[in-house]
Amino acid sequence: MELLPDFSALLRWFQAADLLNSRIAAELQQRWGESARAKRTVEAIRELREKLRREILPWENGAAVHSSTVDELNRLMAERPMRTRLKASGKMPSTELYFEPQQPEDLLAPLAHNVALLFAQVDHNRVRKCDQCVLHFFDTSKKGTRRWCSMQLCGNRLKVAAYAARRRLRRPRITKRFLATSL
Ligand SMILES: [Zn+2]
Repeated sequence: MELLPDFSALLRWFQAADLLNSRIAAELQQRWGESARAKRTVEAIRELREKLRREILPWENGAAVHSSTVDELNRLMAERPMRTRLKASGKMPSTELYFEPQQPEDLLAPLAHNVALLFAQVDHNRVRKCDQCVLHFFDTSKKGTRRWCSMQLCGNRLKVAAYAARRRLRRPRITKRFLATSL
């Protein structure tokens, strides 16, 4: 099932990924929602997603990133640079990357940059598919044995499923004991 069928679905994904706030997403929907460029951007992003899927699955198992993918990410990052800003919160200011979409294609900027950071800075042993859903996640737990993307969503679902499975296993044993005592 395609979860990014159109531009508004793409904007919802950007909000869920914390890359755009709801006010800007609504603005962009109004400004570009019906345009051919927005449609082409959604297609370009879906293509990039498929290319990255083919790259990330073997990478999780230790394969090197293909040079054609490195070239493509470098091209995208050169065309769509991220901006840096200083954040003066807390004791020490910090910098953060951000992007300001001036045209639909600029939505590629944070995607290309974050994938580049993933390949460059993340241990591939800590990235894996969630046991419960289609997402792949970066395991930041101490032991590195997490099996789900989020404790709130899939962790809970997994616990509920395990509980139901234990109950199913227990039931025949109770029946057997019941039979034994009644015989
Ligand atoms: Zn999940």
